[in-house]
Amino acid sequence: MPVVYSAGHPAEAHLCRQYLEAHGIEARVDGEILWQARGDLPPNESTNPTVLVSDENIERARALVVEFESSHAAGRELDSWSCSQCAEDNPSSFDVCWNCGATAAPQNQEDVS
Ligand SMILES: [Zn+2]
Repeated sequence: MPVVYSAGHPAEAHLCRQYLEAHGIEARVDGEILWQARGDLPPNESTNPTVLVSDENIERARALVVEFESSHAAGRELDSWSCSQCAEDNPSSFDVCWNCGATAAPQNQEDVS
C-alpha cells in the first residue's frame, strides 16, 4: 500500500485516516508502534506514523490529504485536549485518547498558569 501521508504525531495520522474514510477511502495507519518506541530519538521520517491507502485510491487520497492538511493546520492549535491519564494531546474530534484509550474528560481548556 502506498503512503499518502506522513504525520508528525499518531493523532495526526488517525485524523487523516478518519478524513479519508469519511470520504469513502479505506486507509490505515502504520508506524505507531515505532513512534511510541522511539524513546529519545529525535522524530524523523523513519519513525513518523504514516497513512496508507490502496493503489486504486492513491490519486484521490492525495487530493484529500491536501484538503486535510489545510483544514487541519487551521484548527490544530485551537481544538485539542490533554488526556487526563497520560497527558497526551488529542484532537478535539477524538472521543478517546489515541495513546491510552481514556475517554475525553469534559474539561474546559483554561490555562491555569
Ligand atoms: Zn491518554
